[in-house]
Parts: sequence; C-alpha cells; structure tokens
Amino acid sequence: MRPLVDRFGRVHRDLRLSLTDKCSLRCRYCMPAEGLPWTPTESLLTAPEIERVVRVAVGRGIRSVRLTGGEPLLRADVVEVVDRIASLPQAPEISMTTNGIRLEALAVNLKSAGLQRVNVSLDSLDRDTFASLTLRDRHDDVVRGIEAAKSAGLTPIKVNAVLIRGINDHEAPAMLRWALDIGVRLRFIEQMPLDPQHSWDRSMMVTREDVLTALAQAGFTLSPAVGRGSAPAEEFEVNGGPGRVGIVGAVTRPFCGDCDRVRLSADGQFRSCLFAVGERDLRTPLRAGASDTELSELMTAEVRDKFAGHQIGESQFQQPTRPMSAIGG
Ligand code: SAM
Ligand code: SF4
Ligand code: SF4
Repeated sequence: MRPLVDRFGRVHRDLRLSLTDKCSLRCRYCMPAEGLPWTPTESLLTAPEIERVVRVAVGRGIRSVRLTGGEPLLRADVVEVVDRIASLPQAPEISMTTNGIRLEALAVNLKSAGLQRVNVSLDSLDRDTFASLTLRDRHDDVVRGIEAAKSAGLTPIKVNAVLIRGINDHEAPAMLRWALDIGVRLRFIEQMPLDPQHSWDRSMMVTREDVLTALAQAGFTLSPAVGRGSAPAEEFEVNGGPGRVGIVGAVTRPFCGDCDRVRLSADGQFRSCLFAVGERDLRTPLRAGASDTELSELMTAEVRDKFAGHQIGESQFQQPTRPMSAIGG
C-alpha cells in the first residue's frame, strides 16, 4: 500500500466527504440568508461513485471517513452511502458531522448501516439565540436529534459550537455544564474565514484564549489532556476528569503540521486542504471510465502539492472561492 504523503512527509488517513452543499440552516458564519447557488443534482457524485472513490482512497491508506456537507442528512440516499462504505473490504471508520435536525428520524438506520459516531453542531442552548444565529427555529429538533443519536449508540457524541462575540459567547460555561450533564463531548471551534459573505473579522473572533478565560472565570479547572495526535481539538480535562472539553484553535493555534486530512466535495473535487485554492476533478475522469490507478494518481498529485498550512491573518492569505458548505467542513 502506497500512502498519500505530501512533500512535508504528512501521511493522510482521514477523508472528509461532503454529500451535498445544501443546508436546512443558515448559520450566519457559514451561509447567507438566501442560501447559495446549489450544485445541480447531476453534478453530485452518486452513491456508487462515492463508494468507488472511497474504495480507491482506502487502498491509499485512508482509515477514517467523515461524512459532512452542507447538511449530509439532506441526502435522500445517506443511509445507502453509509452502507456502501461500511461494506467495503477493509472498511474505514465512519463518522458524520451534522446539524442534527434529521437525526431523530435517521439515527437508528444510520447506526445499522455502519455509522459509528456523530458530531452535532449546536451553538446555543437558547431557542431564540439559536434561531437568530441560524435563521431557523429548529433548536428543539437538534436537541431531540442528539438524544436519538445517544439512544442509537452513535457514541461518543461530540457537540461543535462556534461562538460569536455579543451573541452566544456568554454561553460557554452553561454549554459545558449541559454537555457534562448529558454526557456529550463539547468542542468550541474558532471561527474561520470561509463564509461567502466575507463577514469574518479577526478582531471580533472569539479565540481559544477567550474560551479558556471564560471557563476559568466560571469556576472550571481545566488541565490539558495528553495524546492529541492529529486531532484538531485540543482536549482539556474538566475539574480533574473524567469530563472533558475540546477547543479547536484553528486560527490562533493552527494544527497544520500534524494534518492528516483530505477532502472530497459533493461534486467530486478532491482537495488537499480546507484552504486550498485549487482542487483536482475526479468526477470527470470517473465518468469517462478512468481506472482505479488513474484516480489514485490524481489523488497523489493533489496531495503532493498540499500547502504547509493556512495563512489566515497574513497578507498573502487568499480565501478559497468555495465556501465551507461546498467544501465539506
Ligand atoms: N451542516 C453540518 C454541521 O453544521 O454540522 C456539517 C457541515 S458544517 C460546514 C461542519 C462544521 O463546520 C460545523 O460544526 C460548523 O459549525 C463549522 N463551521 C462552519 N463554518 C465555519 C467557520 N466559518 N468557521 C469555523 N467553523 C465553521
Ligand atoms: Fe448548514 Fe452546517 Fe453551515 Fe450551519 S454550519 S449553515 S448547519 S452547513
Ligand atoms: Fe490541514 Fe489545511 Fe486544515 Fe491546516 S488548514 S489543518 S493543512 S486542512
């Protein structure tokens, strides 16, 4: 097996696979109120095409696949996609990042098909704040989705929260208490410049440091947990453990040096980095009858040219043309 290694020696084992660029929410840091020009259905990889690309990627050492989007649970064939990946020889570990809205309906079937765990995004415990952040009154659906995922055994459940100054940043301690109470792992994520509205402002961003300060002021004692590896989140034990909280300091504490992630967009573009300006088209060759070796070589070429890391905040930084929802977060 020839692994996907870049020129800095980083070995890639994790594939973020976007199933759609559509979404049922409009989180203000991710998508404009009117939505985006969605990818036409005929341009989306079908379930058998996804299976084929994942099979080739597994042959190159990919060991975990995270389904994402857009909102992956909007794909009508999401259970089939999971089933196809889980049925591959040497099947990778399968997880999903979702806004949770359709989890109540789908958790049991996803688990039976082979999904192992979920990360659910929830930025507020307050229904009105949630609605103002996402432009949809769906807070209760997300909470029920988390419960359903727990009952179905899609565990450990992680909850992702992005804090926005003046809107939900005061909620960090309450969210951590809630997460510890219900037994989910909370992770705060620093906002990154990936929104098509270009609303990101470094001076307004709630940083890792801000979160640590707010939690300490609320009386939590946090001690760094060992063994982060290539995981984006820095984990802290809360009050001596076993409870934990994670912080993804994507901007102020980049973890690019240990990055092991590649991405496939819903329309079949292979990307070596969230912030890559270029991408490699796999859909056209796939549909033109390319062999596994040809697809595999396209992956090799894309990974070889991977950035050392993002350059957010530096003068040469260029925001990718695709927004987060079309890349697959
Ligand atoms: N729709 C699903 C969801 O929200 O979980 C999956 C896709 S979403 C792009 C994946 C994760 O990226 C979510 O946790 C979301 O909060 C996060 N995200 C989106 N835009 C972001 C940004 N500009 N900066 C940091 N995180 C962001
Ligand atoms: Fe949708 Fe996820 Fe983006 Fe929110 S963060 S708009 S749920 S894709
Ligand atoms: Fe990896 Fe690129 Fe994200 Fe850095 S910015 S962690 S290199 S995907």
